[in-house]
Amino acid sequence: MRPSDADGLPDPAARRRVIPLVPEVGRFSGSPGAPGTAPASRYAATAVPPDHPLADFLGDGPLSLPGPPPLSLYIHLPWCLRKCPYCDFNSHERAGLGDDGHLPPGLEADYVRALIADLDAALPLVWGRPVISVFLGGGTPSLFQPQTLADLLSAVRARLPLAPEAEITLEANPGTFESGRYAAYAQAGINRLSIGVQSLNDTHLRALGRVHDAAQARAAVAEAQRHFERFNIDLMYALPGQELADLARDVDAVLALQPPHLSLYHLTLERNTRFFSQPPEGLPDADLASDMLDLILARTARAGLGRYEVSAFARSEALRCTHNLNYWAFGDYLGLGAGAHSKLSFAHRIWRQTRWREPQQYMTQALAGRAVSSQDEVAPQHLPFEFMLNALRLKDGVPHALWAERTGLPPAHLATAWRKAAARGWVPDSPFPPRQWVTTPRGFDFLSDAQELFLP
Ligand code: SF4
Repeated sequence: MRPSDADGLPDPAARRRVIPLVPEVGRFSGSPGAPGTAPASRYAATAVPPDHPLADFLGDGPLSLPGPPPLSLYIHLPWCLRKCPYCDFNSHERAGLGDDGHLPPGLEADYVRALIADLDAALPLVWGRPVISVFLGGGTPSLFQPQTLADLLSAVRARLPLAPEAEITLEANPGTFESGRYAAYAQAGINRLSIGVQSLNDTHLRALGRVHDAAQARAAVAEAQRHFERFNIDLMYALPGQELADLARDVDAVLALQPPHLSLYHLTLERNTRFFSQPPEGLPDADLASDMLDLILARTARAGLGRYEVSAFARSEALRCTHNLNYWAFGDYLGLGAGAHSKLSFAHRIWRQTRWREPQQYMTQALAGRAVSSQDEVAPQHLPFEFMLNALRLKDGVPHALWAERTGLPPAHLATAWRKAAARGWVPDSPFPPRQWVTTPRGFDFLSDAQELFLP
């Protein structure tokens, strides 16, 4: 944790600290404003005594945010039937699941009690702020019984104001017992599913170590269509042994299911996975993977699914994922659960937090009011990279005013890197600051290189 007096000012006790009272909160305004000027603050200012328990968060600091960004809630449910060999998420194989796939009832209840204790302890940091989206991610959240998730969402609603149209997504796997629960999940208040289909080819599903087959995946999508207007299908490509023709069949088969939203991921070998230490045979080389991406882009466009982010495609603007859009627009999020991350903004600071990663340790610590294992204030010099790492993933970018709204810094902090990117043809060569922080099509192809220009 960052000490409260580590911002370089000589006399912390003498500093005037400012409490942000409950501000007017809305989605990003997008109003252009005058470049280089600070928008009027929506935070009300009151002096914070240096010994205030939240002085590290609420006190004076290097930033001047005009108001808090939209707030999302992420809840991590960490167990899976089996650990997939490519997965580097904080997911834990759970032995002793019943044939019905239920987690032991005591474990579900204990974990939810820990989540609620975690939320209770975090409330002072987000007091009064409406939540625009909730994402129940994992792991395999659909291992939890619908009634448990209904109770969890009731507890959230009792503590945080959910926006009237809040998107509430559940990550689900297509196993038989799980898709049998989709109707009950909808009744529990979940209004969007994200289904981990990955492929509709049984050979490739086996190569990925998935526990479901293609028939189960199709049945799960059909069940989702019956109960959810909004759902996402996750699909992977560049799989072991996959040829271009295999991928074409997979993409066509998925598009025939008419998903409102599609997320497409290149299989990567992440550290700390079985695939990293024992790479599977037959992985497509870079040229083939590039041809695969071209094929995906052509066929999704023909099917009316618009690519709005590096990996995300939606049938219409209304069907885009609100939760992920908030990440990419550098919004705030409170992460609850084992290993969850948070990014929280205050009038003069932005903080990041991480929860204990191992589920049992998390539960013990959360019930004792200590769910956070580490936290740091984001240094202003890191904000250009953090902001562009997210914003440039969006195909249309974000309006220039968003930089000052979300970081409390003037656009001048981006000028040097932006001009370098423009010189390489990665962003439009227009007068600075541009109307939109966005790449050119060429810059979108060299996204990592373009983002790295903003490193301190
Ligand atoms: S089901 Fe998902 S979260 Fe679980 S191990 Fe497989 S990839 Fe990871």
